[in-house]
Amino acid sequence: MSLSITLSGTGGAQLVPVFGCDCAACRRARLQEQYRRRPCSGVIKFNDTVTLLDAGIPHLMDDWPVGSFRQFLLTHYHMDHVQGLFPLRWGVGATIPVYGPPDEQGCDDLFKHPGILDFSRKLEPFVAVNLQGLQVTPLPLIHSKLTFGYFLETAHSRVAWLTDTAGLPNKTLTFLQNNRPQVMVIDCSHEPRPEAPRNHCDLNTVIALNEVIRCPQVILTHISHQFDDWLMENPLPEGFEAGYDGMRIVMD
Ligand SMILES: [Zn+2]
Ligand SMILES: [Zn+2]
Ligand SMILES: [Zn+2]
Repeated sequence: MSLSITLSGTGGAQLVPVFGCDCAACRRARLQEQYRRRPCSGVIKFNDTVTLLDAGIPHLMDDWPVGSFRQFLLTHYHMDHVQGLFPLRWGVGATIPVYGPPDEQGCDDLFKHPGILDFSRKLEPFVAVNLQGLQVTPLPLIHSKLTFGYFLETAHSRVAWLTDTAGLPNKTLTFLQNNRPQVMVIDCSHEPRPEAPRNHCDLNTVIALNEVIRCPQVILTHISHQFDDWLMENPLPEGFEAGYDGMRIVMD
């Protein structure tokens, strides 16, 4: 039994570097590949099954040929989390299941013209589903579109994936407090700000949440170029680290 999660993208919709921006973080990312941030997404590997967590990488189907993954698990239907599905749906071959929140609209015409994608697997808050032995519990988040985070659980491992969100609903916070994730990957788009942003967390918000959850390893993702710029000058608190594209979390 082994679970690994790779952060295939750790940026927001703006990405890093930002088109036209000349800040230190964007300049650095243009010069050095490892500082680039693609759309926020993950690759879950449990035993031999690969699940793609969000699908915002534009050339997703070049990286993932047919048969290389089993299913999609979506947090929400914003473009930066689903745009890779648009060309992929017109593929040929077996249907690919897409698990996600019961959003009525989806994104653009995805539901109207699903092609080879099967969007019928709608998830319910706090109702766990079993994906080839991996226990997946949807956790409601706070965002401008219906959004689920996920609690991923095996016999030995507990990982929370929480994007996109501005703070957490009380029920989700209580769930995390009770279920004690060993690793938490969370939307932290912004450097510390005096007022909490409305659609994404800033660092102050994530620090306050973890005073309740007490997760020993907090990995920040959905990082903006301003936050990257801030990170070039400022350390993170103990137990916190900034995610990067290609970062791999290996559990038992
Ligand atoms: Zn996003
Ligand atoms: Zn910039
Ligand atoms: Zn979003």
